[in-house]
Amino acid sequence: MTTYETLIKRLKELHVLGSIGGILSWDQETMMPLRGGEMRAEQVAMISSMSHERFVSSEVGDLLEKLKEAEGRGELDEEQAVNVRETRRSYERDKKLPTDLVEELARTRSIAQQKWIEARKESNFKMFQPLLEKTISLKKQVAELYGYEDDIYDALLDTYEPGMTVAQLDPMFAELRGRTVKLVEAIAGTRKTFGVAGLKRSYPLTRQASFEREIAEAFGFDFKAGRLDLSAHPFCGGNAPHDVRMTTRRDEHDPLSSLFSVMHETGHGLYGQGLEAKHSGTPMGSSISLGIHESQSRTWENLVGRGRPFWTYALPRFKAHFAGISDDLNSEEVYFAANEVKPSLIRVEADEVTYNLHIILRFEIERDFMNGRVEVRDLPEIWNTRMQEYLGLTPPNDALGVLQDVHWSMGGIGYFPTYTLGNLYGAQFFEAARKALPELDSQIERGEFLPLREWLRENIHCHGKRFRATDLIQRVTGKPPTSEAFLTYMETKFGELYGLG
Ligand code: ZN
Repeated sequence: MTTYETLIKRLKELHVLGSIGGILSWDQETMMPLRGGEMRAEQVAMISSMSHERFVSSEVGDLLEKLKEAEGRGELDEEQAVNVRETRRSYERDKKLPTDLVEELARTRSIAQQKWIEARKESNFKMFQPLLEKTISLKKQVAELYGYEDDIYDALLDTYEPGMTVAQLDPMFAELRGRTVKLVEAIAGTRKTFGVAGLKRSYPLTRQASFEREIAEAFGFDFKAGRLDLSAHPFCGGNAPHDVRMTTRRDEHDPLSSLFSVMHETGHGLYGQGLEAKHSGTPMGSSISLGIHESQSRTWENLVGRGRPFWTYALPRFKAHFAGISDDLNSEEVYFAANEVKPSLIRVEADEVTYNLHIILRFEIERDFMNGRVEVRDLPEIWNTRMQEYLGLTPPNDALGVLQDVHWSMGGIGYFPTYTLGNLYGAQFFEAARKALPELDSQIERGEFLPLREWLRENIHCHGKRFRATDLIQRVTGKPPTSEAFLTYMETKFGELYGLG
């Protein structure tokens, strides 16, 4: 066996371990009885410490060292070189953190999460403040150990979106923020609302489930290689490409809410199913970044699912599933209902336009506290001031403001920007897809989604981690990532919806 083959064998063994964790976590969210939690926590912790130990072992280190020579002699083909490059990147990052710091992070995370739940319940930021301060100070240590060139925040961003930097985000997000705030103000000025009484009737949950399944299948999701179940918070997990686990939650009086969740998770699921099975367990068979992953979910949820052509196709199907309930709806009113813009306090309830303002606010705050430009104790005030500035709303309390998201309590600093990057990347890819598929809209109207799925598969999914996000975008769209495609899409669509000049 060559050195390279031994490395791949080790990676595939680690993948088997990780895949057990994947199913355990899915089970925890969907099936596990309440009292199973304690044992499950031990199972998951054991799997992850076994994986970590095996990965940062001296054997993997030696293999990577030996492969340096093979790389130098040009003995690796392109795919092999990608696998070695990406494995080395993860290995070196993991090695930089001493065991006691990793343990301290895990301990703090578990206490911080509990405190955050209490603080949110009491709507009292002060209860959470010391834990957030501790988390930030540990994350600063992590960032210093990882290293960075310009901005300490880059080191954390790199965990979720390799290669992305504050220097790239700042101008992209500033442009997006400025033009979105203007659009939101113009929309508010029209005083239009699109509530549809016909969508608030009782829609039996089993019928919702069968309609959602039909849509996911039409998009090209393979139910022989995946499932759709229920959980408190929708997600997509499991083990790509052949065992993708999606979830949703359903509301009897709001059939669109679960439908959009399912379309979102189906986008993630299609990315997973589009990864090449022969590369499973290696970087060539893994997704690039959270931002690219999110670009796929937003494509199917928003660019397709909230579009007019989709509803031309979907409403007759919807009516067939909900005969006797939705007979009087027309596709235009459902299209409008699916696109109402209404500033809200809560990120996860935000519409397509205001969503990015919630993210930009969080990004700015994270960037500033990592750089020591703001004090943690001032966060509620900073949060509320910016909410007023960007969305015209002031949260009445911390639970509806600075305490609403779980991310900081989990140490997930640097994660938020990937949601908005997903919107920007998605729109930029979609623009390129439109050029390549001039019939796209009429295909969608006819329920022919496979040309789009195949285009995404060939241009994005099948490459695994071959390219960094920025390089892939440049390659597929001919441009570096910018906010332009998204802004053009948003201003055109919502300008027309709200009759703005
Ligand atoms: Zn997502």
